[in-house]
Amino acid sequence: MKKKDSNKNHLLYERKNFWKEAPVAQKDAAFEFAIEYQNFLNKAKTEREAIAYTVEVLRKAKFTPLSARKTSKRVYSIFRGKTIAMAILGTEPISKGFNMVAAHIDAPRVDLKQNPLYEDSNSAMACMRTHYYGGIKKYQWVSTPLALHGVIIKADGSVLDVSIGEKDNEPVFIIPDLLPHLARKEQYSKNLADAIDASKMNLIFSGMMDPESEEKEALKSYALKLLNTKYGISEADFLSAELELVPASKARDAGFDASMVVGYGQDDRICAYTGMRAMLENADAKLKRTMIVYFSDKEEVGSQGATGAHSIFIQDFVAQLMAHNGEDHSSTALRQAFINAQILSADVTAAIDPNYPGVHERQNAVLFGHGIGVSKFTGSGGKSGCNDANAEFVAKVIRIFNEAGVFWQSGELGKVDEGGGGTIAYIMANLGAEVLDCGTGLMGMHSLYELCSKADLYSTFKGYQAFLKAD
Ligand code: MN
Ligand code: MN
Repeated sequence: MKKKDSNKNHLLYERKNFWKEAPVAQKDAAFEFAIEYQNFLNKAKTEREAIAYTVEVLRKAKFTPLSARKTSKRVYSIFRGKTIAMAILGTEPISKGFNMVAAHIDAPRVDLKQNPLYEDSNSAMACMRTHYYGGIKKYQWVSTPLALHGVIIKADGSVLDVSIGEKDNEPVFIIPDLLPHLARKEQYSKNLADAIDASKMNLIFSGMMDPESEEKEALKSYALKLLNTKYGISEADFLSAELELVPASKARDAGFDASMVVGYGQDDRICAYTGMRAMLENADAKLKRTMIVYFSDKEEVGSQGATGAHSIFIQDFVAQLMAHNGEDHSSTALRQAFINAQILSADVTAAIDPNYPGVHERQNAVLFGHGIGVSKFTGSGGKSGCNDANAEFVAKVIRIFNEAGVFWQSGELGKVDEGGGGTIAYIMANLGAEVLDCGTGLMGMHSLYELCSKADLYSTFKGYQAFLKAD
């Protein structure tokens, strides 16, 4: 071991391969960690479901709602059912800062339109119109089994949770793609981005009708009758509903060595899950700084609105937390809390894909199996729209990772001028906090089958754990 080490040039920055360098016990732990993670991905296919799963875990770990005014050191707060913040209080006043891992739990998908149902006379089928959410490649969402998830608020205000297509005995939905035989003009002559028109992403809902019916739209009427029988709803109930089409597939091991996980929604539920687990792992330690894990919504469409990271919610959460902690929670004290905060913007990055190495610059891109990715900045072009983390803070996070033996690597999202992307980092940094982008590298990001390495999944968890408990 020593001999091998002395041959190394210690002046070089070399990322380490987890599978090569990690002790066997750590590799086993990485495989073990991926089991419940996959269960989470299967249970949390929407932001609301991610919250339901999280709250169940938090309650088991003796967290209480922040509003309950108990003396609990472990608290959480849900806002509008789609965003959540959870915290464990430290011994130091929150105005001196806190450590936060901030991820997002929305994912690209295809929503139903507000008035979705129609009878298509050409095909003699009942169909639903859709409106995609976030940056999808539309061609990936056709000819693939989809499940319908979401909520319908009935006229009396009661909430109906919908999930169709996850269980083996439930039907799934298909947006059919055009057969290749007839695609020459409609698709093959077009750019990839235009080949599937958003107006042609209607899903086939049903095909039966009431044999007795003399109605003009007998297929649509029958579909509404079925919906009414099953859910007690009428067509107008769709107008306020939030119904999302997501891949009906389950997360599972990938690769012959099973060293990867393939599944939907890993951007960014992988960072949400590892963040939450990291905080729980530190739960029994007596720590100086308060730990906060925040799951925001609407990141894929710009982070605006009441549940997006731009919302007042996270500031209000910290203010409430300060009040709960018995400290001054004036606006000055709250500003100080954020200015003194250390935040990891926990979002995924793009790992080098063997089929498309050219979109990255390898020296500054993350690789599977080499740990959690650290991105000093995101953005596109000339760092447009970026949060550029402070050098001092980047160095500090790297020091924390090194001291904890976390596998990490530095990388940016793609080659300069190749494209780019953003995260919620700048939104938190606008409050004066130190913020660094830090998350797992994925292949096939935003697709129905995002891929991650179990080494990086586990290293993300260990990285967040070390960060959250740091002074
Ligand atoms: Mn993301
Ligand atoms: Mn994304």
